Parts: sequence; C-alpha cells; structure tokens
Amino acid sequence: MGDKRKAFLQRVAAKEGDLVALTQDLIRIPTLNPPGEFYRDICEYLDKRLKADGFATELIRAHGTPGDSEKYPRWNIVARREGGRAGECVHFNSHIDVVTIGQGWTRDPFGGELINGRIYGRGACDMKGGLAASIIAAEAFLEVWPDFSGAIEISGTADEETGGFGGVAYLCEQGYFNPEKVQHVVIPEPFKDRVCLGHRGVFWAEIETFGRIAHGSMPFLGDCAVRHMGAVMAEMEASLFPALAAKRTDMPVIPEGARQSTMNINSIHGGQAEPEAGFTGLPSPVVPDHCKMIVDRRFLLEEDIAEVEAELRGVLEKVKSERPDFSYAFTPIHSVIPTMTDKTAPVVTTIAGAIEAVTRKKPEFVVSPGTYDQKHIDRIGRMKNCIAYGPGILDLAHQPDEYIEVSDMLDSAKVMGLALATLLTGEPAANQGG
Ligand SMILES: [Zn+2]
Repeated sequence: MGDKRKAFLQRVAAKEGDLVALTQDLIRIPTLNPPGEFYRDICEYLDKRLKADGFATELIRAHGTPGDSEKYPRWNIVARREGGRAGECVHFNSHIDVVTIGQGWTRDPFGGELINGRIYGRGACDMKGGLAASIIAAEAFLEVWPDFSGAIEISGTADEETGGFGGVAYLCEQGYFNPEKVQHVVIPEPFKDRVCLGHRGVFWAEIETFGRIAHGSMPFLGDCAVRHMGAVMAEMEASLFPALAAKRTDMPVIPEGARQSTMNINSIHGGQAEPEAGFTGLPSPVVPDHCKMIVDRRFLLEEDIAEVEAELRGVLEKVKSERPDFSYAFTPIHSVIPTMTDKTAPVVTTIAGAIEAVTRKKPEFVVSPGTYDQKHIDRIGRMKNCIAYGPGILDLAHQPDEYIEVSDMLDSAKVMGLALATLLTGEPAANQGG
C-alpha cells in the first residue's frame, strides 16, 4: 500500500475521539422534522467547523418552500473547498433533519450517549453519523493530500424526511447541483458496506367514491359511498394486487420483498368524521355520501408512470361497468420517477473499490424500496453519477434506541477519503496489496 494511503488510514483512526464528539454534537441539536427545528443552529455549527477546514460556506434559506416560516425557516449549508488545480468536484450530501422520537426509548434520544462503541440518539444512523464520517474523511484527506485537483463539497440539507423540497430540491433549482459544478455525489445514508444505486418510483393518488345522503334507518333511500369503496377494494384484491405481485424487477431492491411492484392503502375516510373533541354523544344516523382513499403505489424501472396510472383507472372503470350508480373521482397527487445509477459510473466503481480496500469484501449493489434525495439530484439536477453510501444499519432508522457503531463510521470515513484520493489525486482505487 502506498505511503500516503497508509498515512491517511492512520489519520482517520487517530481521529476517533474527534469523530465521536462531532457525532454527539450533531445529535444534541434536536433538528426534529416536522416542524423543522434548529436548522439554523446546526448549519451554524457546521459552518464554523468547515470554515476552520478552509471551506467556503454558504447558508441558504429555502424561502417559500413547504413548511418554511419565520418560526421554522428551512436553512441549508453548502461548503466548498477548492483544490490547487482544475478538476472534478466530489459532493457529500447529508440531510440534517431527523424524524419524531416515538415511544420505546431506553436512552436519551438527544443525549448522544456513547455505550460499548455505539452512539445513541435520534438521527444517529439516519444520518448524522454519515455526515460526521464525511467531514472526518475530508479533514483527514486534506491533511494527507493538500495538493489535490478539483474540489470537495459538503452539504447539510433540510427536510429530506418530508420530501426534501426545502432542501436538496431547492438547492437543485438554485443551481447548486448541476453537472457543470458537481461531478460526483455521495449521500451518506446508512447502507453500510453496500452501494445504493437508486430507488423505485412513487405514484400517489386520491380515489373518491360518491353516494347520496339519507336516513340510516332507510339506507335503501340513499346510496352508500363506503360500500362503493368496498367494491373498489374487492376489485383491487381480485385483480390489482395479484398483478402487482407478478411484476418483478431486475433492480436489486432490498429487502427482497420489495423486488416487485407494491401498493399501500394509506388511508380511507368515509361518512361522518370522528366525534369532535369534547363531544361524547353518538353520531347521527346517515348514509355516507362520500368516501376517500389515498393509495401509495411504488413502481419499477421497467414500468411507465402512465401505465401505473392507467392500471388504477382500469380498476375503477371495471367497477363502474359492473356496479349501478357507481361514480368516482381519481386525482394523482404526487409522483417520483424511479432512478438507478449505472454500475459502471465513476462514483460507483470508485466507492466500490474503496469499500473493497477497507473491508476486504466485494460490496453489494442495492436499490432502496423508498426514495431519498437522489430523486431531486437526478430529475432537477440532471445528475446521474450519484449514489447513497454511508455508515450504519438501515433498519435502525426511525426506530427507538437508534444508534451508530463508531467502527462503522471509521470504516466509512476511510472509504470516503480513499474515494476522494482516487477521484481528486489519481490514487488507484484498488488495494495495492497492502
Ligand atoms: Zn435519511
């Protein structure tokens, strides 16, 4: 192994205490989303740290995006460190928000306690540990290879957990991610030793059925919208769900169960709303004249979004042809196109080579069942050379007692730093027999 590589790996190992402290500091800023708290605080913390490392920084508020207000402004940070010569730019993008705490914790969710090599807290693996690892990777890289070409960027972005509109989507729209400025993007989400190439697509729609109100003791005088919706669900069970299960994909989606088309029924509401707070009486007897369902369809690279929509409309048309007085409305409300970076893309081969060098195992290539900020980088930023790779166990995300292993973060910092060496100094990606 080259001397510089060896020196680099030793630098990372020597930074263990610093890495732990940095991760703890980030966890202790409770950036809960919703509503989107303490974004400014965490950006200022990162600003101070990255400025000291020689990065030029910008704090950017995503004015007017969903959730942005004077009370809960959507702040983001983008930091850039130029090398001595022209070259390509490698960008590490981490979201700074965390999801609600939920029940079942035995540790302080914002304490950042270090116990037996694990740091506990909401956001530990998803994904403040990944953010910390990318910063340590860059710092150790800069100490060993100060004379690099191109640039390193590190961003901390808002709102990934609620769609990323006030975060990466906004930055893409403002030109922070574009192929002229940034050539390689790594999102340090918790995939541990695996390279995540992309995600399935999303299609959400609202389905409404209509009826006619009448007295509940004489339902034959009305028309029940909930029974109509029942017929829709029966048709979904009979034809749609089996059809979705039969659509398999070549995308390496994990877990395996998601290697097909899926659909979740997010909600159904029909008839009177639940009693208002303070009212404890019985509801009045009426036939429901309206019922609404929200469906969440996840689709594959092999499927077309127009086909996905037509398939759902087909279910409704079939029910309509068979059922007297059936009327419905169908409204698409949200969609994301599936994306999968090519396995031969430079960021993929470089990170994969670095994982092999550090762990001595060939990395697995995977695709996420759900989406993350890569969707915006792909569609708005027009950038295909993007992956998710970072420390931590994906299953722990959003769970009680979420934690990150310090050893995972150290490995990941080594991988990210070696990838910088390959892309910005021409250091070979593969292990040189060291
Ligand atoms: Zn995440």
